[in-house]
Amino acid sequence: MKDYLAKILTRDGSLRAIAVRTTLLAEESRRRHGADPVATVALGRLVTGAALCGGTLKGEQRLALLIEGDGPLRRLFAETDAGGRVRASIKCPISGLLPTLTDYTVANAVGKSGFLHVIKDLGLKESYRGSVRLQTGEIGEDLAYYFTVSEQTPSSVSLGVCLGEQGEVAAAGGFLIQALPDGDEETIALVERRLREVPPLTSLLKQKLTPEGILAEVFREVPFRIEQRIDLCFHCGCHRQRIRSVLLSLGKEELRRLGEEEGGASVTCEFCKEIYTFSREEVLRMTDALD
Ligand code: ZN
Repeated sequence: MKDYLAKILTRDGSLRAIAVRTTLLAEESRRRHGADPVATVALGRLVTGAALCGGTLKGEQRLALLIEGDGPLRRLFAETDAGGRVRASIKCPISGLLPTLTDYTVANAVGKSGFLHVIKDLGLKESYRGSVRLQTGEIGEDLAYYFTVSEQTPSSVSLGVCLGEQGEVAAAGGFLIQALPDGDEETIALVERRLREVPPLTSLLKQKLTPEGILAEVFREVPFRIEQRIDLCFHCGCHRQRIRSVLLSLGKEELRRLGEEEGGASVTCEFCKEIYTFSREEVLRMTDALD
């Protein structure tokens, strides 16, 4: 089952909602970064949050979520574009914490003190950056708080990651519901009430509900239409040529040292963990390019 995003609008135009399945994305993030179970859930939630935000973008726009907390994971990052391409990184993939029977203890791993930054590249001269203090460190609530306070868009966010026996991601997904300007208060109240009744997202995910299935649960009493579906995938924009220019920026002295003393260079992409190696000859040839 592939990962994808579904976007809906209520028929009366009061609310829009986005739901995603991110099982493969969260699992690939875990695998690439070697995250332990608690870190996997935290990273999976952030990746899911980013995928949801991607549903609000258009054209060449990009968006990144960055969490800096005082917990053992320290720094988590996930970035997306309007085409459903997502990549992620984590400063410390080993939380050292154990999940309990009822809780993945994400807030302890992220930290209760810190910031969520939302960085948007909307194709303008400067990128936009909005920041809020972490509310709970559970990520979903923090993202909802950002939308509601920083963007003045009342929002509800639910993010879920379920692990299998080996700590792999068995299911992941989430939804984002946003009230649109001049929305009908009765419709909004109906959905708010329903949100308190629906089973926890993780149990809907375990039942293998599709993104549309999850939205149908939440919007049971409110007619809606599906606006868009977008496939989601892990994609990192790194490539050899870009890594080469990073090496060139080190300067002639350092390149010569790498070539002669280290016998070459090896660079790991922080997002996808792809390793790019450059032989002694390649590195020394680069110094010629700097003449
Ligand atoms: Zn990469």
